[in-house]
Amino acid sequence: MKENVVVIGGGVAGMEAARQLLLLGYNPILVEQQDHLGGHVAQWNRLFPDMAPAGDLVRRLWDGITDANIFLETRVTSVNRLKDDYLVMLSNGVSISCRAILIASGFKLFDAARKEEYGYGVYDHVVTNADLESWFNGNESDRIPSAPRSVGFVHCVGSRDLKAGNSQCSKVCCITAVKQAIEMKERFPEARVYCFYMDLRLFGKKYEDFYIRAQQEFGIQFIRGRVSEVGETLDGRLQVKAEDTLSGKPLKVQLDLLVLMAGMSCNPDVAELARMARLDIDSDGFLRSLDNTAGIDVSNRPGIFYAGACTGAKTVPETLGEARSAALDIHRYLQGR
Ligand code: SF4
Repeated sequence: MKENVVVIGGGVAGMEAARQLLLLGYNPILVEQQDHLGGHVAQWNRLFPDMAPAGDLVRRLWDGITDANIFLETRVTSVNRLKDDYLVMLSNGVSISCRAILIASGFKLFDAARKEEYGYGVYDHVVTNADLESWFNGNESDRIPSAPRSVGFVHCVGSRDLKAGNSQCSKVCCITAVKQAIEMKERFPEARVYCFYMDLRLFGKKYEDFYIRAQQEFGIQFIRGRVSEVGETLDGRLQVKAEDTLSGKPLKVQLDLLVLMAGMSCNPDVAELARMARLDIDSDGFLRSLDNTAGIDVSNRPGIFYAGACTGAKTVPETLGEARSAALDIHRYLQGR
């Protein structure tokens, strides 16, 4: 009989890890709270740097786990250690005995309404990166104007922000802003598009090429400065005040759409999971790895491993890579190596 491994979280990390565990000869049991797999990626339209459809990746991962046991709309209600085994109880009444658990519970998008100065939830045409991506994905929204003359993107919303409780960089939102700015210019070539940034952090493969194209081919304007205030003009446009910190001059721009690049926050459900399984948590609420250099997928508890954004902000390629290495580390652990 194949040995059980409980995988908590059915985003791309959990799906990829389950796929690898099946290939290694185990019986992965995938537990997901939502009614679908794929997590945030399943809601996305296209992925940088190749602009590949996000749905293709989720479908490929699905095809690799058709033999796995999958519980949707299910939560873990308790985790208890009994000698070398864990007993995992689920909200559907199922209990599973296993020697290894993989946590891939992902992240939560920062709630942009908490940054009141940006007017999310107050002004109709202030949206988040996720709202815009959902519209790119074909979901109608009356919050996206049909012919915007000018569009702004605000970087670092809820990231690198001690007041918001998240001092870390979310890693993906600079390149997501560049990607979405290009996509808006492709749809609305006449629109003026601005990115308001503190620093540009574009470290991944082909990211810099995207940035150069955004400026040279699409004429997107990058303004180094923090947006201090968003208001509405009498004719219903957005008025954005910022300071251009390179020229030292204050700036006022009228926009038809403002997109807030909400960052990655810890998944609040992790706190309860950590309490049940006696796992360490970092000050920012993400799970703490045993070693941030050579053991990012290893927890402080024997047989419990991590993959993806449950330990901090990750790109999709990093998440998939971690899922594969976590599956391999579980295999080694179960083989006693
Ligand atoms: S990736 Fe860019 S936008 Fe996102 S938190 Fe880091 S610096 Fe800010």
